[in-house]
Amino acid sequence: MKLSENAIKVLEKRYLSKDENGNLLEDVEGMFRRVAKEIASADEKYTHKAGLVEIEEQFYEMMTSLEFLPNSPTLMNAGRPLGQLSACFVLPVEDTMEGIFETIKNAALIHKSGGGTGFSFSRLRPKGSAVNSTGGVASGPISFMKVFNAATEAVKQGGTRRGANMGILRVDHPDILEFISCKKDNSEITNFNISVGITEDFMKAVEYNLEYELIDPKTKKPVGKLNAKQVFDIIVEMAWKNGEPGIIFLDRLNRDNVTPELGEIESTNPCGEQPLLPYEACNLGSVNLYSMLDAEKNSLDFDKLGLTVKKAVHFLDNVIEVNKYPLKEIDEMTRGTRKIGLGVMGWADILCALGIPYDSQRAIELAGTVMEFIQKNAQKASEELARQKGVFPYYEQSIYAKKGIRIRNATTTTIAPTGTLSLIAGVSSGIEPVFAISYIRNVMDNNELIEVNPVFKKAALEGNFYSDELMKKIAESGTLKHIEEIPEEVRKVFVTAHDVRPEWHVKMQAAFQKYTDNAVSKTVNLSHEATTDDVREVFTFAYRAQCKGVTIYRDGSRDMQVLNIGKVQ
Ligand code: UDP
Repeated sequence: MKLSENAIKVLEKRYLSKDENGNLLEDVEGMFRRVAKEIASADEKYTHKAGLVEIEEQFYEMMTSLEFLPNSPTLMNAGRPLGQLSACFVLPVEDTMEGIFETIKNAALIHKSGGGTGFSFSRLRPKGSAVNSTGGVASGPISFMKVFNAATEAVKQGGTRRGANMGILRVDHPDILEFISCKKDNSEITNFNISVGITEDFMKAVEYNLEYELIDPKTKKPVGKLNAKQVFDIIVEMAWKNGEPGIIFLDRLNRDNVTPELGEIESTNPCGEQPLLPYEACNLGSVNLYSMLDAEKNSLDFDKLGLTVKKAVHFLDNVIEVNKYPLKEIDEMTRGTRKIGLGVMGWADILCALGIPYDSQRAIELAGTVMEFIQKNAQKASEELARQKGVFPYYEQSIYAKKGIRIRNATTTTIAPTGTLSLIAGVSSGIEPVFAISYIRNVMDNNELIEVNPVFKKAALEGNFYSDELMKKIAESGTLKHIEEIPEEVRKVFVTAHDVRPEWHVKMQAAFQKYTDNAVSKTVNLSHEATTDDVREVFTFAYRAQCKGVTIYRDGSRDMQVLNIGKVQ
C-alpha cells in the first residue's frame, strides 16, 4: 500500500489493534482485512461461503486501493470488542434533571468509542425559570452545556479519539443572546461547536428589519421580543471574532426530513454534515475522487466511480447490520431508518489534476455533475439492496412509501470533513480547497521537513520547475499567488483555501448540497482583514444559495489554529 509516513503514524497511534502493553497486533493491511471481514459478515444470511469471500475481497480491495474509506470508528472498532462503527449521533436533551444527566452519560459512552454527538438545548427552560420540585430557579441551557463540556473533557484521555459535540439553540429561545456569545472567550466550552438554529421566519424578520418573538419552550408562550437584524448582527460579529457560532437552517433540515412522522430534526452531528433525529446514528464513508482520475484521458472515470459508489453503499448498509450500538434506543432508531452517508474526498486534488481552478464556473458545474451522479447511483444501489434484503423498517412512515420508491436506506449521501480519512488517503479533505501547496513540518530534533502537495509536485516535475528552494519559498506563505517563477496557468489552477474568495466557497458548498440527501461539511475561509460585512454577506449568500448551514473561519481569529500556514507542528 502507498501510505505516507504521516498516515502510518496516525494509523499506528489510534487505529491498529494493540495488546495491553501497547504492542501492535496488526499492520495496516491487517486492519483493512479485519474491517473487510467483519463488514462482509453481514451478508452471511444472504449468500454462501464463496460469495462471502468475494464480498470481503471487494471491500478489502476498495479500502487498500484507497478508493473508499469508511469513517474512523469503523476502521478502529470493526471486528473488535467495542464494535461501535458510527461517527455521528444526535441525542435528545429533555428538560428534567434525570434527562439531562442521562444524556451526559450516553454522550460519554459514545465519545469513548470515537463517535461525535449533537444536541439541541432548545427544550431546556430558560435561565431564571422556576424549578417546581425545589422552589429554586433554573440555570438555563448554557450552564448545562458547560457540564456536558466538562464530561467530554474527562473522557478525552481514555477514548479512541477526542470527543466532539455540536450544541444548537433555536434563535427563538429566550436565552439566545447568552448562547450566541458563550464562546466569545475561546477557552470556554472547547469541546463544542455551536450553531444557532435559524428559522425562515427569523430570516424574513431580518430582511424586513422586524422584531420576532422569543418562546418559552416549556409553556410555548411568547415571553419577549428581539429585533431580528440586531440578533443577526451579533451572530455575525461573534463569528467574525473567532468563527463561532455557525448557523443552521432548521426548516431546511426538516423540509428534507424523509421520516417526518418519526419526529422533528433539531440537531446535526458535530461538524454539521449529518442532520439526525434524536437517538439516531449514522455511519459515513467517502469515495476518494482523486483515485477516480483517468490519467490517460485526463478525465474523471465515471464507470469506475459508479461501481465504487455501488460497492460503498453495500459496505455502509452492512455496517448498520454488524454495528454494536451503545444504547437500546439508538439501536432501534438506527436500524429503523438505516441512514448512511456516502460522500467524497480529494475533490480539490482532482480539480487540480484536471487543470480546473476551484474558483471557476467549470468547477461548480463539474461539482453538480459528479454529485448528481453519486446521489443517483447511491440511491439506485440502495433500491437494489431493498429488492434483495428489504426496505428499512420505518419505510411506511417515510416519504418514499408515499412515492412508491422502495429503498433500503432513508438517506444515502453526506459530505463529511474527512479530517483523518483524507490524511490516510493522502488527498485533499472533503470538498475543501487545498490548504497549502507546501508547508514546513517540524520533525524530531528540530529538523524541518517540507511537505509538498503531491498533485502539485507531479505538475512541477512535469513542467520542469521543481526545486527544493522553490518549495521552501512556497512554504513561507503556502500559496503560489506571488511566485512568479511558476507559470500563470499553474498558479490559476493550484489555488489554496485562502486564495479562493468566500463566494466561491459558498458556491461550491451549494453545488454539492443540491445533490446531497443530508448536508455538507464546509468551512468558508476568510482573510484576516475580512470585515463583519463580509461575514454577513457570506451568511446571507449561503441562505439564498440553499445551503443547510454555514461555518466561517477568519484566518488568525483563534489563538489555537489547527493548521498554520508557514509552520505546522
Ligand atoms: N468526529 C468526532 N471526533 C473527532 C473527529 C470527528 O467525533 O475528533 C465525528 C464527528 O461527528 C464528525 C464526523 O466524525 O462530524 C466526521 O468527521 P471526519 O470526516 O473528519 O472523520 P474521519 O472519519 O475522517 O476521522
